[in-house]
Amino acid sequence: MVDRITLWAVNRLADKVASSVSFSRATDLENMFKTEVKRTALNIRVPFCASRCPFCAFPGELYSNSYAKIFLTGLKEEMKLYSSLISQNKAVVERVYLSGGTPTLLHKEFGTIQDQVSEHFSFQGKVALEASPADLKDEVLASLKDLGISQLSIGVQSFNETLLAKVLGRPAKRENLVSTLKRVMDYGFDYVNIDLMFSLPGQTKEMLLEDLKTAADIRVNGISTYPLMMLPYTALSKTCARERVDKGGKINSTLADQNQAEETENYLAIVNYLRERTYKFRTLWSFSLNPGAYEGPYEHDSFIGLGPRAWGVINNNFTLNAPSTEDYIATLKEGKLPVFAYSELRDYPTARLARRLYYGGIDKHQLNELKSADFNIRVLTGLLRILGLVRWEEDFLKMTDRALAYGNLATKKIAMATLSRMDEILKAG
Ligand code: SF4
Repeated sequence: MVDRITLWAVNRLADKVASSVSFSRATDLENMFKTEVKRTALNIRVPFCASRCPFCAFPGELYSNSYAKIFLTGLKEEMKLYSSLISQNKAVVERVYLSGGTPTLLHKEFGTIQDQVSEHFSFQGKVALEASPADLKDEVLASLKDLGISQLSIGVQSFNETLLAKVLGRPAKRENLVSTLKRVMDYGFDYVNIDLMFSLPGQTKEMLLEDLKTAADIRVNGISTYPLMMLPYTALSKTCARERVDKGGKINSTLADQNQAEETENYLAIVNYLRERTYKFRTLWSFSLNPGAYEGPYEHDSFIGLGPRAWGVINNNFTLNAPSTEDYIATLKEGKLPVFAYSELRDYPTARLARRLYYGGIDKHQLNELKSADFNIRVLTGLLRILGLVRWEEDFLKMTDRALAYGNLATKKIAMATLSRMDEILKAG
């Protein structure tokens, strides 16, 4: 399935995009607010975790009551500052995402946070929450329902007990995870998504398919599948690098290196299996029984990142907040927004096409608009068709399965480069 020449071209293109990802320190934010933001979403990042997972590329700080209080005070101030900067009248907030870290650690504060959102914005949308399965006790689920939190995304990662304990550093019993998810489904939330990982060291295709089957049997509304990103600064990468040395230079590929051919095969196994189980393609890494009912935390065109290390997109600027709760509160005390760094997003036709392809394809009307804005789009889509990477299905130019698999590799490279640059600039700060 992997064609070496196309793979080489995809890798080159992804490397080029990845090498262009850069952040600058945010010294003057005035330009960012020259255009009024009338409609947006909020990404409220709760910056704490109960413990740190060894694979995590963007972990939270360890939870403490005192830091939680500081964070909540800062959050209120940050919303107030944004509401005055982005719009003359109250801006419409179309969605609120409570992301993390581990937001469920602060579940008792969600009501207060929602009140603050309503005080500063005109809130008309849904509230979605990232949740850890360990926190989803009955009393928590009941309180989430009472507060009107209607969409959950649960970080299961795997149902395989060996992978959970030995690779992911979050030991759990499969039967407990399954019973938690069944209970969550019984509560009648609008949408329940779970995250699963693939390309894990020691994970066979059979293990991956078993995980997908478990999730699909429960009939969760959505299944997001992310490849492990072996960023060199994660504890898991360091362990794997040590194992590689311990073996006297003899590389154990399942532990040390991520093999693109193997990952492509596993990605296609995911696409095929979930299709058989009636899950539809929503994005390259997300499948759904009802794709229109959900939107991932970072998919809204405009979203304000609130909280330490939160990220957002404002007027085509990717923003990244202060590295720690201490820096965050110190900046807010000076009456300034805690935006620490930013990266300008280029909104040219090829970037727009790439974004549409992340969602699986583009309709004829949107494509014609891009073609008239840039002749290269005509050449590029022609080439993609010749290579068998896209095909017309009625009025929709759709990525083929082969293209989706290459898209997974390219997106992973670009995501890894972005996360690395974010980590570098935050550490340098
Ligand atoms: S995966 Fe989630 S819980 Fe684990 S360290 Fe990362 S943010 Fe925290």
